[in-house]
Order: sequence, then C-alpha cells, then structure tokens
Amino acid sequence: MSSQPSAAAPAAEIGVIGGSGFYSFLDDIEEVRVDTPYGPPSDPIAVGELAGRRVAFVPRHGRDHRFPPHRIPYRANLWALRSLGVRQVLAPSAVGSLTPRYGPGTLGIPDQIVDRTSGRDQTYYEHGAAVHVSFSDPYCPAGRRTAAGTAKTAGWDLADRGTLVVIEGPRFSTRAESQWFAAQGWTLIGMTGHPEAVLARELALCYTSLCLVTDLDAGIEEGEGVTMDEVLRVFGENIGRLRTLVGDVVKALPAERSCPCPNALDGMKLPLELP
Ligand SMILES: [Zn+2]
Repeated sequence: MSSQPSAAAPAAEIGVIGGSGFYSFLDDIEEVRVDTPYGPPSDPIAVGELAGRRVAFVPRHGRDHRFPPHRIPYRANLWALRSLGVRQVLAPSAVGSLTPRYGPGTLGIPDQIVDRTSGRDQTYYEHGAAVHVSFSDPYCPAGRRTAAGTAKTAGWDLADRGTLVVIEGPRFSTRAESQWFAAQGWTLIGMTGHPEAVLARELALCYTSLCLVTDLDAGIEEGEGVTMDEVLRVFGENIGRLRTLVGDVVKALPAERSCPCPNALDGMKLPLELP
C-alpha cells in the first residue's frame, strides 16, 4: 500500500471537501485514485482547474452518499489531499442554527468548534511520539477572512464568526441538548466539522469551514424539530449559490500562505513522514 499517488497524478494546491453537487464547478476533471495508510478516501478525487487554480475535490460522503457522518474516512480524505499537493482546504457543509438570528440560507463561517462526537479517529499521531498541535483557533484566519469578504460581496446573509457544535449523529439533537448548546452561546450545529478541522491542523493545512444553515435546531424551533426533508429542501435551494461562492473563494485564496497554519508542526518530532 502506498500513501503516494502515482507519479503521473495531477497536482492541486486547493482542496474542497463537500457534497457531490460540487463536481460541476471544475474544468478538465481527472479522477485520481489515492490510497493512504488510513485506507482509501471517500471516493476517487477529482482534480481539475478553476480560474487558473488547481483544485482537488473529495465528495465527503462518497459519490453515492454511502458514508454517514460517523463513518466518513476523515483521515484518508485529508491525507489524500495533502499527498496531491493541497495546502489550503475549503469545507462546505449543511448545518443547523442554534439562534433565530441565523435563519435558513445564512452562511456561517465559524471561528470555534465544540467537539461532541465520540469514538471517531481524530489524530494521525497514535504511536511513536506525542504530538500536541495547538487548536485554540481551529480555523485558518486567512481562509476565514477571504471567505467572509467574498460572501459579503456576493450578498449572502453572513455570520462571519460563531461556534460550531459537532455532534456524533446520525440522529439530530433532542430539544434539551439543543437548548443546552444554545444557552452556551454556541451558534451552529453539524455532524462533520470534527475531526476534519483537527486532522487538517495535524497536517499543517489551512482549513476553512463554510456552513450553509438549512434549518433551526430543535431547541429554538417551535414546530416538530429538524427533519431530513426540510434540510434537503433548503440545501437544494441553495446548492447553486454555495457552489458559486466556493468557486469565488477558491479564486480569492492567497497564492502564498502567510497565515500560521504552515507552522503548526514546527519544533515537533513527528513519528511519521507527511506526504
Ligand atoms: Zn492558513
């Protein structure tokens, strides 16, 4: 098993991990099968071009949506992207809102995470040495700034900061859980933002979460609570503009990284070699 793509594999500088509605925004797509020490990623990676930038796309749940949030091969996805040369990652996803201020159709760009998952593999550094990355600010500041500026220009209802609670799922929250999260001042709730963000940090990648609000979570919603139908309906209505936004953010990302992310592993003795 090799962690490297074949010598002929096309390189990419920017990675997108998102729903399968994102294939169509790349030109001249080449599909690459990448194996990793953590198994294969969710699906072959589509590498293509967008406005002169080389972009690699992974459908987070698999092309046929076969991986529920707790079964996504998060480690393989990030490792595979890095092995293709990716250093900046954009991660669009659907989330719930924990505040009536952010209704369906809002774009959230969180600056904090609360991890309420359990049992997911959330590190590459399991043996040989203790590696403790800083995670006090879990997202790339340059990526967040670029995304917020782009979304504002495009006229999105924007929450340019906030705390994303990541629950284990696949069920939605109870009203009590949801009210508890909201009472802490946390604003967004999803199922895939962790461990994606921390794995990106462990590979010294820039990672920016783009959260499309599809519903109000159970604790603040008056009716029957979150339903999958509602989530899919709002997501379907907004997928086109979300795709456009991701494309515009790709174009606006800096060519050279001047954020702290590339230095996340400085001074640490790594028990494995990064791709
Ligand atoms: Zn960064």
